Amino acid sequence: MRVIRNQNLYQLTVLPSVFPVNCYIYEEEDQLTLIDAGIPSSFNGIVKLVNEIGKPLTNVVLTHGHGDHVGALDKVKQAFPDVAVSISERDSRLLRGDVSLNSDEPQTPIKGGVPKRIKTIAERKLNEGDRIGSLEVVTTPGHTPGSISLFDTKNRAIIVGDAFQTRGKIAVGGQLVRSFPFPAFATWHKEIALASAKKILALDPTLLAVGHGNMIEDPHQQIEKAIREAAEQLGNVQKGA
Ligand SMILES: [Zn+2]
Repeated sequence: MRVIRNQNLYQLTVLPSVFPVNCYIYEEEDQLTLIDAGIPSSFNGIVKLVNEIGKPLTNVVLTHGHGDHVGALDKVKQAFPDVAVSISERDSRLLRGDVSLNSDEPQTPIKGGVPKRIKTIAERKLNEGDRIGSLEVVTTPGHTPGSISLFDTKNRAIIVGDAFQTRGKIAVGGQLVRSFPFPAFATWHKEIALASAKKILALDPTLLAVGHGNMIEDPHQQIEKAIREAAEQLGNVQKGA
């Protein structure tokens, strides 16, 4: 497990050189929040870091319901039974293995690995503007219908799940990066993902933290470039259709 710290955000990465899967611990004054729960092998590193920091883990927030973001959730809930688990209202259905669409959503099948045997129930269903300590919920759908980002109101960092990837190169969720194509394969709706990427840019974050790949400081220009490339790609697709 690799740990990289940036102010009060700790990035925990399993398989950093092969198939990097990140989760994050956000340190508040008197407590800790885990953002995403990685894959099952993320568990030991999470426990070790919580013990090293030495503050109680009180919240687990999931950016979306895919298997590589909720893999250690049951073990974490067992080890820290008092944690409050939260996920967006919309993706709480994915956490239960339900991939049905709402009638007002584009009728494109939800992609990616949706867990089937998660026992933990998210007791809190999040919507735009909700707060978990210093973190504010920003809805950023596209990778899944209920994907959210967490905006750090203290330091203006943003943890976006798979709304972007930075492995291989920075890309908007759904845009194919040949050296690491998996987030693109798992993305539900590219146009909606692009709109969410613009919403993230408008917040002008000081740090971009993603599900797959390294954190980027002062990411404004790189986010702009990724948005430009995604818009061009989608434009080409539409012209060709
Ligand atoms: Zn992912």
